[in-house]
Amino acid sequence: MRRRILDASLARGRRNNANDTRECLLEQVKLRAEKAKIFGYPFYAELVASAQTAGSAENIAKLTERIAAAVAPNVRREADALAEIATEMGQNDPIEAADWEYYTDKLSTKKYSVDFGRLREYCEADRVLNDGVFATATKLYGLQFKERKDLPGYHPDVVVYEVSNEKGEAVGLFLYDLYTRDSKRGGAWMNDLQSQSHLLGQLPIVCNNHNVPKPAAGQPTLLSWDEVTTLFHEFGHALHSLLSNVNYPKFSGTEVYRDYVEFPSQVNEMWATWPGVIEEYAKHYQTGETLDQATIENLRAAATFNQGYTTATYIASALLDQAWHKIGADEPMPDPKKFEDDYLESIDLKLDLVPPRYSSSYFQHIFGSGYDANYYSYIWSEVLDADAVEWFKENGGLTRENGEYFAKHLIAIGGSKDPREAYRGFRGREPEVEPLLRRRGLLDN
Ligand SMILES: [Zn+2]
Repeated sequence: MRRRILDASLARGRRNNANDTRECLLEQVKLRAEKAKIFGYPFYAELVASAQTAGSAENIAKLTERIAAAVAPNVRREADALAEIATEMGQNDPIEAADWEYYTDKLSTKKYSVDFGRLREYCEADRVLNDGVFATATKLYGLQFKERKDLPGYHPDVVVYEVSNEKGEAVGLFLYDLYTRDSKRGGAWMNDLQSQSHLLGQLPIVCNNHNVPKPAAGQPTLLSWDEVTTLFHEFGHALHSLLSNVNYPKFSGTEVYRDYVEFPSQVNEMWATWPGVIEEYAKHYQTGETLDQATIENLRAAATFNQGYTTATYIASALLDQAWHKIGADEPMPDPKKFEDDYLESIDLKLDLVPPRYSSSYFQHIFGSGYDANYYSYIWSEVLDADAVEWFKENGGLTRENGEYFAKHLIAIGGSKDPREAYRGFRGREPEVEPLLRRRGLLDN
């Protein structure tokens, strides 16, 4: 059954039926190449990179190829561990791609023994928000949060907070919309309802949306571990807008390049497991008992688990996206599957056990969702994120001074300065990729 599902998944968009996307994708690649030519660029990836933090396709290649080189040995090591547990469980055939997730789940339970069902009982939503997310923003940025019951939201579930600084001056409004409902789209996201701007004399009004199921009346809202991390993540976007200090709304808060916009939110996720933070919010909803240290340690250790695989599936897709968009306007269009296979082979990422996350015929991000020649941007932000997290660690972590410095150099400026220059100003050097590889456990071979 696993094999049938995976095979069906991998053949999406190339089955010679009404849903075959191959012709359409080739036409898109061709038109994009022509557009790049009109603008005077050799290929489309260069045109896109020129208007991002990355600056050039060569810079993207340097980064992604460095990461790609680090993953292959890790994938092999992970495959060995999976084969071992499969044998223990009585499977005698060699494992294949379709087995990966199944045995990874078994191995994770065995290795880290985090009982995620029980963990929920320590993640009561109000506590996570007030003693985790808000408390961290107070320690770093001096922000104070006061619920304003007199201000109505756009729905009865929306809670409105007035945000002020340590001098008591108004910073903005934060709208918090936690629960799922029929009229809401899925996922979690942040909206600017009003952007900060000195020119217009406007303070920011920002909103965080989540899709947490609403408990029965009188019951507490207990969050999954994923939802806890997401609360910190989305609030990182909110901070980007709340701490904005620019003249023009065009450059306010999250109005930055796509390969930069996830950076502040990813950095904010670090505080979810930070010593002294998790102990404050992760308390049992009935007894008030603090989550045990062994579980906290396992949550931190699990961050490096299966990262060879996760990184390989992602980086193969990111490189494939670049490869498609490096085809020049005058070059002949290749057969999509052959192009993909040959390319992945040429960069040693054609791994039998680990197919790329998206194959060309169903790579919606780049052929339908605006991430064309931009899929690398997730890891680009994460490189900055991991490097900035190291800076916090080198400088004493969760302090008001660090928050001030970080906000001044990288958050308050929104899109009003060149982000690479701003980053150099913050770090005193270019961002390095090693912290990301270290964090994902990809350097320990
Ligand atoms: Zn985000």
